[in-house]
Amino acid sequence: MEKEKYKQEINKLINAEPNKIRKYTVTINNDKPIFNQKDYATIEGKPNYYKLDREGRSNGAIAIISPNTLPLITKKKLKYPSPSNWSKSFENKKIFEKSHIIAYSLSAKIANPNNIFIGTIKLNRSYMKKVENKVRRYVKNNLVRILYKVTVKYKGANKIPTGVLIEAQSIDDDYSICRFCYNVQKGKNFRYDNGFIDTKKHTLGDIIKDIKDKFSRKSNRKQQYLNFVINIKTKVFHLYDDGCIQSKNIEPENEQETTAKEKDLLKKNLKPCKKCFTN
Ligand SMILES: [Zn+2]
Repeated sequence: MEKEKYKQEINKLINAEPNKIRKYTVTINNDKPIFNQKDYATIEGKPNYYKLDREGRSNGAIAIISPNTLPLITKKKLKYPSPSNWSKSFENKKIFEKSHIIAYSLSAKIANPNNIFIGTIKLNRSYMKKVENKVRRYVKNNLVRILYKVTVKYKGANKIPTGVLIEAQSIDDDYSICRFCYNVQKGKNFRYDNGFIDTKKHTLGDIIKDIKDKFSRKSNRKQQYLNFVINIKTKVFHLYDDGCIQSKNIEPENEQETTAKEKDLLKKNLKPCKKCFTN
């Protein structure tokens, strides 16, 4: 894909109405990102957090992710600085949270206010995390360096971003990933210009969705360890943490992470990946 077309495709995604989106993570250009020339000057261990834009919003960062930059320990309670435009009222809505542009799990870097944006809980903990986990797994298993860029995309002067573009390209082999993740919170409509909750009357469908969400949140709390990644299309499951290259190629809509045990998956007639389970 040529660069102009690539940009157009991304602009089309940004200009969509996020509250009406059905697919929350979109694969762009068959996962082949197109970087700018200056992106390649990024130095390992020195992430570049972009300056705030004219509206005072954080808007992205680039880094090289390698086995050296992955954190050795998982920090559970990190104190995040507030992103610009953040206000106390955001905290009480149960929609937004201070979200990393480049995840701690990749760069092991903590507080830089330019690395924090206003993301939905769903974007931060699910849509972005899936992509981050794929990259982290790949770096860990293949010991490669990956040029990794996240751009926070806003429509006009909105305070709340429409979504984030994640572009990643290995320097040492041909692994790459290019995804747009929408900044949405299922069942909650909010205004992107100011973050206020849309007070339109909710339909019965919205209310049911809310209840379902609440239930799944409750069950999520009990589940602690993700064990496997299932490709629901091929019905093959892969190891979560030491997954093979096939596990990274699963389309987002076919991908399901699970805390279930191996025997339960076998009972459901899912097949273990040969690559993952012979090593
Ligand atoms: Zn596998």
